[in-house]
Amino acid sequence: MALLDEYNRPLSSLRVSVTDRCNLRCGYCMPEEHYAWLPRRDLLSFEEVARLVEAFCALGVRKLRLTGGEPLLRRELENLISLFAAQGVLEDLALTTNGLLLEESAPRLFDAGLGRVTVSLDSLRRERFARLSKRDELDAVLRGIEVAREVGFCGTKIDTVVLRGVNDDELVDLLEYGKRVESEVRFIEYMDVGGATQWSADAVVSRNQMLALIERHYGAVEALAKTDTAPADRYRLPDGTLFGIIASTTAPFCGACDRSRLTADGTWYSCLYASSGLDLRAPLREGATGAELAATLSESWRRRKDRGAEERLALDDRGALLAADFLARDPRLEMHTRGG
Ligand code: SAM
Ligand code: SF4
Ligand code: SF4
Repeated sequence: MALLDEYNRPLSSLRVSVTDRCNLRCGYCMPEEHYAWLPRRDLLSFEEVARLVEAFCALGVRKLRLTGGEPLLRRELENLISLFAAQGVLEDLALTTNGLLLEESAPRLFDAGLGRVTVSLDSLRRERFARLSKRDELDAVLRGIEVAREVGFCGTKIDTVVLRGVNDDELVDLLEYGKRVESEVRFIEYMDVGGATQWSADAVVSRNQMLALIERHYGAVEALAKTDTAPADRYRLPDGTLFGIIASTTAPFCGACDRSRLTADGTWYSCLYASSGLDLRAPLREGATGAELAATLSESWRRRKDRGAEERLALDDRGALLAADFLARDPRLEMHTRGG
């Protein structure tokens, strides 16, 4: 019997952030000069993460995505993947990365049992990539995508945040690139999450606007019926190519949201927009048993009522969620700490 929240949404998918550090500075995620970081002593060890994940799995979690910050900055990440593989319960184990370090780590990740990779890539133009992310590293990302394919990863996805006047002229180029590397491209609406201090409604390219840009080039695309709780709406180009659009800003999917997030310091958030989370590090380090941890999680999930993105959509006057000085007081409010 699945564990359900107040709106009958199951606890089935978990995003685990393994670090809040990042080697890029994407303007929609980390636009500031300086950041407050999680104290290093608070970061969970891999054994601690694995113990928590075991408790989540006991309650029904079967999908897990490793994220960050940039997860590949966490040394020997493959050891954590091996711990999950040894537990043998997860049905879908994925990683979201900016791809900078993928070239060298892909073989080890694959051998350890990682199932799938999603690479964030917002531009195929070197100068634009550098301007967007503040690092001139496009070639490293493209090599990472190639190597992931060579070592055997299938089902790789390319995630692109579409920003008006910045990269909304690259949708076709990205789709063509996705075809070449056999990866499904997903276009993401710009979200007003914590950390997106430069967000404005004007900069959002909506799903309908994206579809119009794509159809102008390819002709009519076919919308596919939704088959699971994944956030992307999926479409088919006339030549059969599949792609997705994640309309989190203009058409939120809170009604079916089965996901929650664990930060690298062991705080559990039941919504991307939640202002506070549940500290799991303290009970873990005080010796709570697996059953006690599961009971804590279960009690909290049953009371869950979050519909963060829908509440944002209902606002008349929508601007950035939180100002930079507010974020500096609690790094866990940042998208790069919650893991996207
Ligand atoms: N660093 C890794 C990466 O970029 O793939 C993983 C963490 S990152 C926070 C996860 C995802 O969040 C990325 O695909 C990124 O594009 C997305 N993201 C960050 N800020 C966003 C925003 N304001 N709106 C929409 N997506 C955002
Ligand atoms: Fe970009 Fe991901 Fe780093 Fe955010 S965490 S700045 S999205 S690479
Ligand atoms: Fe789920 Fe919160 Fe995102 Fe809505 S805003 S889809 S409830 S995480």
